[in-house]
Amino acid sequence: MSESTHKPLEGRLAVITGGGRGIGAACAQFLAEAGASVVVAARSTDQIEAVADDLRGAGHRAWGIPCDVADPESVDELARRSAEHGTVDILVANAGIASSSPVVRQELDEWNRIFAVNVTGVFLCTRAFLPGMLAAGWGRVVNVASVAGKMGGPYIAAYSASKHAVIGFTRSLALEVATQGVTVNAVCPGYVDTDMTVQSVDTIVGKTGKDEEAARGVLEQMSPQRRIFRSEEVAHQVLQLCHPLAEGVNGQSVIIDGGAFQA
Ligand code: NAP
Repeated sequence: MSESTHKPLEGRLAVITGGGRGIGAACAQFLAEAGASVVVAARSTDQIEAVADDLRGAGHRAWGIPCDVADPESVDELARRSAEHGTVDILVANAGIASSSPVVRQELDEWNRIFAVNVTGVFLCTRAFLPGMLAAGWGRVVNVASVAGKMGGPYIAAYSASKHAVIGFTRSLALEVATQGVTVNAVCPGYVDTDMTVQSVDTIVGKTGKDEEAARGVLEQMSPQRRIFRSEEVAHQVLQLCHPLAEGVNGQSVIIDGGAFQA
């Protein structure tokens, strides 16, 4: 099949971490609609099963496999079970968590938890799936970072540092595998309409006494487009980076924030 058809990922197998809801679920849908078979991984079994069920109901090949990306044994088990469906060609390392705190009150446990999921989780999943891509001579790794990986913000030092780390990892790995048919890129969304942003809105409500609409307004004002973004917009960029014709795009961080940060 031509690489420019509407099913550019036909025959490919993709693993999407954090695929049970939000951005990851949208990525699973977009990659499946582009012809890929998809493994949907996260800790909440009910959510990954629901996403996989919906995709199968729409005629796609999809499986839910539970995984905690911060746990090396769990990632190994994800790799073992994914291999039952073929060689993994595409990794969307999307699983992530966020919280906010002034640095002077930042709990070490919480700092470590954020790094374990957002940074070590990306490393562990990459280490698990990259060898198969290198052996096949084709692969796509897309890490879901954040615009907070490109610029700082008050009270999000741990999250922002973790996403800067993801971008550093992405850039270095991209160069490491550049001659072997594998590309490694990141996407960097601004605020997206998911549970994570609901949590941010709740925090603003709790800290400032603003009502929910006003709190959402604070986040909307952070973008020149004065809006919160849709998961589908992020999934669209992820799909673009997975496309066969995206082979020359490597080590990049694609920002989806309406123009607030201009690289
Ligand atoms: P979300 O709705 O909270 O979804 C997060 C996903 O990650 C869930 O499926 C969650 O499932 C999974 N996850 C969390 N910890 C995990 C772990 N230890 N192992 C495996 N899966 C885990 O948030 P989202 O907005 O879609 O976030 C997805 C990614 O986008 C994150 O990396 C986030 O940092 C990034 N991002 C989000 C925004 C935003 O405004 N929403 C902006 C920029 C970047 P379980 O809890 O069931 O494991």
